[in-house]
Amino acid sequence: MVNIPKGTKDVLPQDSYRWHYVENVVREVSKLFGVKEIRTPTFEHTELFLRGVGDTTDIVNKEMYTFEDKGKRSITLKPEGTAGVARAFIENGLISSAMPLKMYYITPVFRYERPQAGRLREHHQFGVEFYGAKGADIDAEVILTAYTVLKRLGLSVALNINSMGCKECRKEYNNALKEFYKDKLDGMCPTCRERYEKNPLRIIDCKEENCKKINENAPAITDYLCDECSEHFESLKKHLTIAGLTYTVNPKIVRGLDYYTKTVFEFVTTALGSQGTVCGGGRYDNLIEQIGGSSVPGVGFGMGLERVLMLMDAEGVEIPNKESVKVFLASMGDKANEKAFELCYKLRTEGISAETDHVGRSFKSQFKYADKIGAEYVIALGDNEIESGKCKVKKMLDGSETEIELDEVVSFFKV
Ligand code: ATP
Ligand code: MG
Repeated sequence: MVNIPKGTKDVLPQDSYRWHYVENVVREVSKLFGVKEIRTPTFEHTELFLRGVGDTTDIVNKEMYTFEDKGKRSITLKPEGTAGVARAFIENGLISSAMPLKMYYITPVFRYERPQAGRLREHHQFGVEFYGAKGADIDAEVILTAYTVLKRLGLSVALNINSMGCKECRKEYNNALKEFYKDKLDGMCPTCRERYEKNPLRIIDCKEENCKKINENAPAITDYLCDECSEHFESLKKHLTIAGLTYTVNPKIVRGLDYYTKTVFEFVTTALGSQGTVCGGGRYDNLIEQIGGSSVPGVGFGMGLERVLMLMDAEGVEIPNKESVKVFLASMGDKANEKAFELCYKLRTEGISAETDHVGRSFKSQFKYADKIGAEYVIALGDNEIESGKCKVKKMLDGSETEIELDEVVSFFKV
């Protein structure tokens, strides 16, 4: 047989309710925050990610699923959610919408990474993109959207924030980094030596032990912010405080994407080993322009849903399974089987979930099966029930029984 590709996962029928639960919370919270869903294609022209995500990032350099299609176009499977939304924003003239335009997505994301717990080649992200507002109050609102989802899911995570400044502060900071690393390059990994030339900021994100050690004493971006960026950062902190959120300023957060300006943030946990970042995001005021639109500020995040589910497991959060069946119609004998089939369909058309036997089980094993699928009620139909036109509805929780007319089955469950 052919096996599943490395780094991908099946969601099996007995587990899909877990995903539905998380996705429902995501959609409910999005509604509370006035965020509307946007769906963009699973693949885009490779060029979009080169320009949008940045060609010095790990994602673009090492992790993209890129291929040539039959029309000789270079195509890439989404390695993140933001660039596609930004493209759709420009292409569909969403700039003429009332601002801010608040959008969310739930999407598969593809990255060629070394698979391990919490690190897949296809994973799923819930993300938001708020366009058209440049104040830090909207950054705080984005952070609160993620926080509310995580909190509703029963998770406790820590919020780390930082500012990456703007082009101006980054110029100064890059100089400071160059100065700092100048005489330390020999002890650093080849990738960082390359980063030194192309984009020294990326060094801060390196996961190699030696580089990490050297990075401990690297200059902090927060010491290089211009007045405007520093006021923005103060305003962010103020809004988070107003909302009662606690946070830690961590100048080492630079995020793995080039498009961030000013605010960046992460929600992290120590419960998932080294894959502890559950959600990451920030502001990207130049992105839309960078990929060919006009100047529109944006801010958003991506939340890894596999990591969210792993964390729910690790923290022992119980996920209610609301997908069990309401009524099981057990039956024995031709007439009774047909009645069960008929009632089962009628119940379903009235919005009541119902099941009946399809594989010729004995009465006893039909009851066992009903129990297994979590049926709330069981109605047993045999020759007696067909003759008398009455049946007993058994409530599985306490075993209590109610006798009703066969004609009343649907109305009994219809409240
Ligand atoms: P990391 O540092 O863990 O590689 P990242 O900086 O690459 O994360 P983002 O690109 O910001 O992460 O993606 C947002 C979120 O998506 C992450 O915080 C994480 O929860 C999740 N995520 C990223 N890559 C993977 C992956 N390969 N497998 C599963 N989840 C992932
Ligand atoms: Mg990564």
